[in-house]
Amino acid sequence: MRRSLAVGMLARGQQAIEFEAAVVSAGSTTQLSGSTSPKARAVVLYVHLSEAALTSGDRLAPAWLENAGGHLVTAGQVAGWCRAGSTTKVTVRPVLDLAATLHSTGYQPSPTLTEQVELRDRTCVFPWCNRPARSCDKDHIVPWESGGPTSSDNLAALCRRHHRLKTHGGWTYTMLTPGEYLWRSPHGYAWLRDRSGTTDLSPPAVPSPADPPDQ
Ligand SMILES: [Zn+2]
Repeated sequence: MRRSLAVGMLARGQQAIEFEAAVVSAGSTTQLSGSTSPKARAVVLYVHLSEAALTSGDRLAPAWLENAGGHLVTAGQVAGWCRAGSTTKVTVRPVLDLAATLHSTGYQPSPTLTEQVELRDRTCVFPWCNRPARSCDKDHIVPWESGGPTSSDNLAALCRRHHRLKTHGGWTYTMLTPGEYLWRSPHGYAWLRDRSGTTDLSPPAVPSPADPPDQ
């Protein structure tokens, strides 16, 4: 069962400069001012760590930077940021079980359910789309008006463009397991999308009878 921990970090003052340098080295495209004013800038990062990385003390265990382009850092780097001292404020969010089924009573998902879907899906779940889940709509896979519940197993992150494609373009999808989706195009092609990426399930083209087989 996959669990993740989101650590929101707010860094200020001189430590913020070092903190930002760490973000830059991780490849963030964020424009940084470079100001040394203590109140010039606040930085919030969402860092995902496995429970094992926290408990084993393995400084080389991978951690995932959600809003810096999905870059990997190490648990040791995260530990270094957390040690930044009194000028750095570190907020640790509760562990969310990404496989649990949460329900909301109305159309709108609760903040906890929204957070769970965003952490589970990470990006828009349309094949090959990389838009961050936090900026995506939370789509009712079975529409709300058709009786679809507002729950973990019926919500998925879709960017606005692909939400429209699903609503009006004839594309359909189902959730096989938490975070794993089977998509079908209007022409019957199929793709599997999970946390590791997209797999094309369409059968290979049948060779024409006019083409002789390879010798
Ligand atoms: Zn998308």
